[in-house]
Amino acid sequence: MSEQVITQKLASQDAELSGTIAVSQLRRLAAALCSSEGDANVQLRFAIDDQRRRRVTAEVHCNVHVLCQRCLKSMPLSLDSSLDGVLVDNDEAAQQVPRHLDPVLTEDGVLNIYEFIEDELLLCLPFTSFHEYNCGAAVGSDGASQVSEKRKPFADLANIMKKS
Ligand SMILES: [Zn+2]
Repeated sequence: MSEQVITQKLASQDAELSGTIAVSQLRRLAAALCSSEGDANVQLRFAIDDQRRRRVTAEVHCNVHVLCQRCLKSMPLSLDSSLDGVLVDNDEAAQQVPRHLDPVLTEDGVLNIYEFIEDELLLCLPFTSFHEYNCGAAVGSDGASQVSEKRKPFADLANIMKKS
């Protein structure tokens, strides 16, 4: 996927672009992840709307690995974002964009797709991430005095089932 595109041309052609961007090329995103492996899948549609605005809609999907804040091991995370945007060339124009649409800043009509997609993915990155299962249960030392030997998670359940 090309890094920069001229939006006026694409919008007047109702152009659709789809492709992938390697996570390793998105430095700010990669810095927030455990691994820079993988690709972002990107679909972009450009158009001119009935108010003569240059429009872009984006669908982004990316599988990444982040650090679990509980066990400090890697965990997979799926990032998905969709956006309905208006392409603008400056902050004043961005302020004119109605609230239900997102202003997407270009530089003299040139959109840096990598930066745009990276910003989108950074926005959907959660502040903290935890494994869905209770990965840290055996790690903590608090309250360890109550149990002298390591508890097996299903030992109690096995006893209950034997009794019945
Ligand atoms: Zn974990």
